[in-house]
Amino acid sequence: MVTTEANLTQEVRDFLNDGPKKLLIGGQWVEAASGKTFETVDPSNGDVLARVAEADKEDVNRAVAAARKAFEDGPWSTMTSAERSQVIWKIADLIEEHADTFAQLESLDNGKPVVVARRDDVGGTIDYFRYYAGWPTKIEGHTVPVGVPQTFAYTLRQPVGVCAQIIPWNYPLMMAAWKLAPALAAGCTCILKPAEQTPLSALLLGQLMLEAGLPAGVMNVLTGYGETAGAALAAHMQVDKIAFTGSTEVGKLIMQAAGKSNLKKVSLELGGKSPNIVFADADIEVAKEGAAAGIFYNMGQDCTAGSRLFVQDRVYDEVAQYVADAGNKMKVGRGLNEDTEIGPLVSEEQLQKVTGYMSIGQQEGAVVLGGGGRPSDSALSRGFFVNPTVLGQARNDMRIAQEEIFGPVVTVIPFKDVDDVIRQANDISYGLGAGIWTNNLQRAHRVAAAIKAGTVWVNTYGGTDPALPFGGFKQSGIGREMGYEGIELYTEVKSVWVNLE
Ligand code: ADP
Ligand code: MG
Repeated sequence: MVTTEANLTQEVRDFLNDGPKKLLIGGQWVEAASGKTFETVDPSNGDVLARVAEADKEDVNRAVAAARKAFEDGPWSTMTSAERSQVIWKIADLIEEHADTFAQLESLDNGKPVVVARRDDVGGTIDYFRYYAGWPTKIEGHTVPVGVPQTFAYTLRQPVGVCAQIIPWNYPLMMAAWKLAPALAAGCTCILKPAEQTPLSALLLGQLMLEAGLPAGVMNVLTGYGETAGAALAAHMQVDKIAFTGSTEVGKLIMQAAGKSNLKKVSLELGGKSPNIVFADADIEVAKEGAAAGIFYNMGQDCTAGSRLFVQDRVYDEVAQYVADAGNKMKVGRGLNEDTEIGPLVSEEQLQKVTGYMSIGQQEGAVVLGGGGRPSDSALSRGFFVNPTVLGQARNDMRIAQEEIFGPVVTVIPFKDVDDVIRQANDISYGLGAGIWTNNLQRAHRVAAAIKAGTVWVNTYGGTDPALPFGGFKQSGIGREMGYEGIELYTEVKSVWVNLE
């Protein structure tokens, strides 16, 4: 029983011991209409952590009705923007108060190192809510000098309405924040569907949001599967907007569902196969570390993971070997252990997928420079662990270079010069992130402009900030989250004409 483990907070124990978790609909905790539940497991050993209500179409209908009522009838929509700010700020305060509990729940449900969960997932979530808490009082329209005499014209920026938000399992709490905070700041109401692999932190978040004074129905949580609950949200006629983070494959299904139903607004943050480019003129010591951290962070389960590492010929061996050694040195273990650097992958399915790509890489002629396979330590045998892995002597046309592996596996590809690497880096269907390591200023800016990606990092890798827009070119997505762009995603612009004669 996980709940007898010594280092858990009492709140985590109570949360997990509290019987099957329920859905949050219209401010009430309710069972699924079908009465069904599903299990969520600890990926470090496969043990069941909790049972969770399994939402389906009828629950989607109930949640959408609750969100619609909350949107149309207030009090969320009739509150002043300053009052909405206060509620969002309070949510951040409550998350901070419960930070250790969130970090442990996240580590148990997802597998990630608890130290990282506390610092980045929980810390980032708090920052994110605080950033968007500032926006409600700053959402403005414009007055516009139209070409018609005696006419006063202005724009209003208004909330888009009922928003369905479907999120993945790699940063469960933070993905919920990325979706909820701007939507709430804009005055929308939400139905959040966490990933079936990691439903727990969203449920605790729902509880705290009610405590923070968020009116009933403004935020609803439906735990359940994508093919059922998720698909019903995407097809629903009363959902005004859907925001999705996940695979490109499912992103396409969501767009189709929106197109076949009510043309709800769609924003998508999808996969990536981001080039991380090391030029020979870089500060190699720093670049090597950035290359390793760029792929092994969060076990590579990150849509901006620097999973295509391009290294200029002259420094290829040195950099590739460093990353391989760095991976070999990382402490693989259960996320709850404070010294763990690499936790398990989230699920058996991901384990099969990631180890499958290790074999594909070797069949394609790449060479395993570090890691490969699963750890031999028998204490880890029940969990979904893999070794941090470096596949060298690779080419950009291999499947291990073109397809998203979503694990701690990096494909290292040599390049000759600037033109060669720009061409190779852009020869891919994705465009989410890119890294450039160089001390040449002109080269840095030239490559930053040339790479087709939503975010480019120069001599650093992987950071995000609530104030800076984030999203993808090409098949990595549609729309930008964060910053003012995040507000734009959740608002409609209305033009008003007034005849002054
Ligand atoms: P992965 O394959 O890595 O689990 P997915 O894109 O399948 O990533 O999952 C991301 C989120 O999308 C999850 O919340 C999942 O339940 C949901 N989802 C999966 N399939 C669908 C679907 N057909 N319609 C709507 N949501 C879906
Ligand atoms: Mg899937």
